Amino acid sequence: MKKENIKNLTQEELRKKIIALREPAYRSDQILSWLYVKGVKNFAQMSNLTPELQKKLATSFYISELELAERLISDDGTQKFLFKLEDDNFVETVLIKATGRETVCVSTQVGCKFACKFCASGKKGFIRNLKPSEITGQIIYLKHKLKFHVTNIVFMGMGEPLDNYFNTLEAVKIINDEKCLNIAARRITISTCGITPAIKKLKNLNLQINLSISLHAADDKLRSSLMPVNKKYPLKKLISEVQSYFEVTNRKITLEYILIKSINDSKKDAEGLARIAHQLKATINLIPCHDVAGKNLIAPNKDIIDRFVKYLRYLKANVTLRASKGTDISGACGQLAGKK
Ligand code: SF4
Repeated sequence: MKKENIKNLTQEELRKKIIALREPAYRSDQILSWLYVKGVKNFAQMSNLTPELQKKLATSFYISELELAERLISDDGTQKFLFKLEDDNFVETVLIKATGRETVCVSTQVGCKFACKFCASGKKGFIRNLKPSEITGQIIYLKHKLKFHVTNIVFMGMGEPLDNYFNTLEAVKIINDEKCLNIAARRITISTCGITPAIKKLKNLNLQINLSISLHAADDKLRSSLMPVNKKYPLKKLISEVQSYFEVTNRKITLEYILIKSINDSKKDAEGLARIAHQLKATINLIPCHDVAGKNLIAPNKDIIDRFVKYLRYLKANVTLRASKGTDISGACGQLAGKK
């Protein structure tokens, strides 16, 4: 009999399997705690389960662990991890350190179908969705194997999280659940290129997680040229859905804006961006464009960046300029590509 990866079961499915094994339901909480709080590798280590149950579990299930293929450490302390998956695909994960926080940037897909011009993940095309165990597995490896004190999670690695909606949400449940990884919803951020039907579904769950929109342009023509997804979900539709998300959840929205020389760094671009930010009561996160091999897009010089920031502030927009982290190891925003 082919064994099943226990970490791919939803919490409800695990509970049902335990009951089907004629065990009390509370056993499923004990198992979750062993898997995620203690990070054990086999059922024999689950010492508060009966030996019979340990045996039954080992007959039907296995406990997966990602395999680390490469680890790179940047001069600024950012670390990038290349993980090999069971089917020999690869994904990357980034750990970003700042005072008082260790943030893990997780991947949700191998490759990506959305082909944003400034992104290395999109360049490779889409291969497959990650399973919940492969998403949480990135965090478990860093937390249990490498002993990082993981405080925050951002879904900004390879892939579009809302294009892998079900598995991303299952992973969010595990990350957030106090019986599992116990990271507060307010410390979890999902970043999306703007898949409006999925934002709508997410809104209806009314989770207290943060939503970040990869905006990168404030008019449809330019945005569609940088992000083909905009043709399907244009700005008007996106802004109205995000506005509704804000009204229901009351969670602050962030607009990610990669600043690209002579493409989206003009006064008019800043005015459009400020207008959208006001409409959504959002914070703008500016990121100078990073090198992506083979792409002809670069960051404006410092003077232009400073002028752009100053003008946004003059327009009363709430803006932060994100310091580039991990560029020397291709671990910065838009640079993750998996195995070359
Ligand atoms: S920016 Fe996000 S949605 Fe766009 S190609 Fe890269 S991973 Fe995909």
